[in-house]
Amino acid sequence: MAKILINTKHYKDNLDCISAHIGNKDKLALVLKDNAYGHGLSTIAPLAHQYGVKNVFVKNIQEAKIIENLFPHITIFYGRFPSFIPTNFHPVVHDIEQLEYIPNYAKVELKINIGMNRNGINEDKLNIVFEKILKKKCEIFGIFGHNGYGDDESEDFYHSQNHFFRIKEQAINLSQKYSIPTPRFHSLSSSGALRTSNIQDDLVRIGIAAYGYVPYNFPIEIVNKLKPVLSLWAEKITTKHLPKGSKIGYSGTSILQKDEIISTYDIGYGDGFFRYDGNKKNGEKARLFSRDGFEILPKTSMDCFSAICDQNEICVFEDVRPLCDFFGTIPHEILTNLSSFLPRILI
Ligand SMILES: *Cc1c(COP(=O)(O)O)cnc(C)c1O
Repeated sequence: MAKILINTKHYKDNLDCISAHIGNKDKLALVLKDNAYGHGLSTIAPLAHQYGVKNVFVKNIQEAKIIENLFPHITIFYGRFPSFIPTNFHPVVHDIEQLEYIPNYAKVELKINIGMNRNGINEDKLNIVFEKILKKKCEIFGIFGHNGYGDDESEDFYHSQNHFFRIKEQAINLSQKYSIPTPRFHSLSSSGALRTSNIQDDLVRIGIAAYGYVPYNFPIEIVNKLKPVLSLWAEKITTKHLPKGSKIGYSGTSILQKDEIISTYDIGYGDGFFRYDGNKKNGEKARLFSRDGFEILPKTSMDCFSAICDQNEICVFEDVRPLCDFFGTIPHEILTNLSSFLPRILI
């Protein structure tokens, strides 16, 4: 059966490497959203717990419930909430209007807009948001921004950081004004954290780097030390000896140039593996290979693909970056697409 292997040593090595860079293991917070970037939330969360991680981030309350007993602080980025939530759940407030969906007495985190102009409270509304939150008897547990320029060498990265520091000062003043505890502050995800040598925030939100990757448009040395955690494996369904000229699969897109041994394997686009129709994303013809160099033939079906080999099992990928180049995307997209029905096995 098709499966995903999770390399626990690589995962731990990555966390060690990132912690060493941050200089303080307690500042390491992990982003486990989207089924832990496709690695399996209930597979990865216990590893993060064992490592001693206390602060994590998930997408919605469904994900938070799966890991409810593992972490003292689980921040929930999106969604609406029931009127009672566990005290270790921290809903994120993205704007004033959203406050009506936040339960009274909740310990919330405020998302502020520091330049992406997507979600987040604008600087000039911070005071009123504080007032409204305190009226609801909520606690402001944290305040964070998301620097959207971590992957880019442009000045915008520093502008966003300065914007964040300005708001941080304002928030500290407001906390004093209302006599409430100072919230925790954080602004950096993987690339931003790994390119910053003197991190002033109380924690960093590490997603993709923990899984072994960081997409970036300039060199960050530490990135070369990270190792891929996930590999995707497919099992053989059938093998055929086919003569030159045979057509394979839908629309006969693959036509054999010589006699070949062809097998089908039990992964298709229904498993979240990208559909390969014989063209690269940019339209050119290209050839796709498994980790060990077996050619994967178009077109990928919903439940299987054909390849030129007769191995009982093949590793479709271990390092996802060649596939990213092939499909013109980033590791996040290929990994988060992997079906939650594929078994995740720790090695
Ligand atoms: C997804 C996400 C992260 C993690 O980003 P990576 O680049 O994967 O480290 C951090 N912060 C927020 C708000 C996010 O949505």
